Amino acid sequence: MKEDKKCSFCGRSKQDVSILISGINANICEYCVEQSQAIIREEITTVKNRQFQKLKLKKPKEIKEYLDQYVIGQEESKKVLSVAVYNHYKRIINIDKKSKKDDVELEKSNVILVGETGTGKTLLARTIAKMLDVPFCIADATVLTEAGYVGEDVENVLVRLLQVADYDVDAVQRGIVFIDEIDKIARKSDNPSITRDVSGEGVQQALLKLLEGAVVNVPPKGGRKHPEQRMIQIDTHNILFICGGAFDSIEKIISSRLRTNVIGYNNTAKDNIDKENVLKHIMPQDLKKFGLIPELVGRLPIISYLNPLDKNALRLILTEPKNALIKQYRRLFELDNINLNVEPAVLDYIVEKSIEFKLGARGLRSLCESIMTDAMYELPSKENATEITITLEYAREKVEKLKGFNQKVA
Ligand code: ADP
Repeated sequence: MKEDKKCSFCGRSKQDVSILISGINANICEYCVEQSQAIIREEITTVKNRQFQKLKLKKPKEIKEYLDQYVIGQEESKKVLSVAVYNHYKRIINIDKKSKKDDVELEKSNVILVGETGTGKTLLARTIAKMLDVPFCIADATVLTEAGYVGEDVENVLVRLLQVADYDVDAVQRGIVFIDEIDKIARKSDNPSITRDVSGEGVQQALLKLLEGAVVNVPPKGGRKHPEQRMIQIDTHNILFICGGAFDSIEKIISSRLRTNVIGYNNTAKDNIDKENVLKHIMPQDLKKFGLIPELVGRLPIISYLNPLDKNALRLILTEPKNALIKQYRRLFELDNINLNVEPAVLDYIVEKSIEFKLGARGLRSLCESIMTDAMYELPSKENATEITITLEYAREKVEKLKGFNQKVA
């Protein structure tokens, strides 16, 4: 008589289980597979945590050197961010090592970056996350609303982080969240509102909790919370929040403050204010005046600014960073064994047009795309194509063909 098959791990017989997988000399049932999976998952998390603890954190100077490879200019914000990130992760790594008598608690320092759109705020945050190999996501403050109103609850910011970390909660808890357009949720005046302001002040209040550190329930698939849904608990104490915003015309607030400060003195101090570069004088009170609530400003103690990109910077952005646009196109053609040459005059032309269209660094990409598309379409099917040279004439023709390009993107 044939012997009844049993699970070699728990001894359940075939009749007691739905699935029994047979190997060469052993069988395993679905219960034991599930249990093994849980053990493996836990073990992997422990190993990852240990690896993170051992991670030799780069020193601020090294962090900046890394950023230099990807981000052109913005020396001040690169420096500030390098120190902030270094301290943040040093703090996390040291939490477990902290001895009992050492009761100095290092507070978390979130960062706020102020600067025109397309100057590299997101790029800075993304590059830092890449260097540290921690989960990173971008959230848009404008779609967030206070809980209970149409729009996304602030907790949904963490759903994206969970997704990029493949639901590894430990990794999420030391990730970086970039909250873009934080200036768009400013309240309309410096005075506390009398009427409800669901998309501005309300959201700032809701964000406050995440930024200062709290254990929040996150619906794993996002969307609205409802009672039957299983929630994932995430502790945000060690998540680094980097906020970014253009803060249009905040310069006026800064200069007016600087001017008031020098009243009563002679005019020299006033005249010394570098009109072009008022942003470098930015202080927390300017953000408050702009419409961020004082509590939120308090949770973003590290402020830095990004300069508008000039001609030189834009020109460098095209060719210098590690994954500069032109390098990317070159690689794309290379994959088809085609050598791409771009005349230097073309690069100057792209920069010129980008400035003319007031598109900054963001425009470089769309301009390059319009110039390269036809070539990228035609050449791969052309036999014996080994080389392409983009001349100024060719580039001009492609850009000028874009009817209403100026209006369309304005
Ligand atoms: P922001 O977040 O300030 O609006 P981004 O960081 O998204 O701007 O920049 C948009 C794109 O422009 C980036 O993907 C990058 O290619 C380019 N870019 C902007 N600023 C820089 C810079 N300082 N150095 C290199 N590339 C830049």
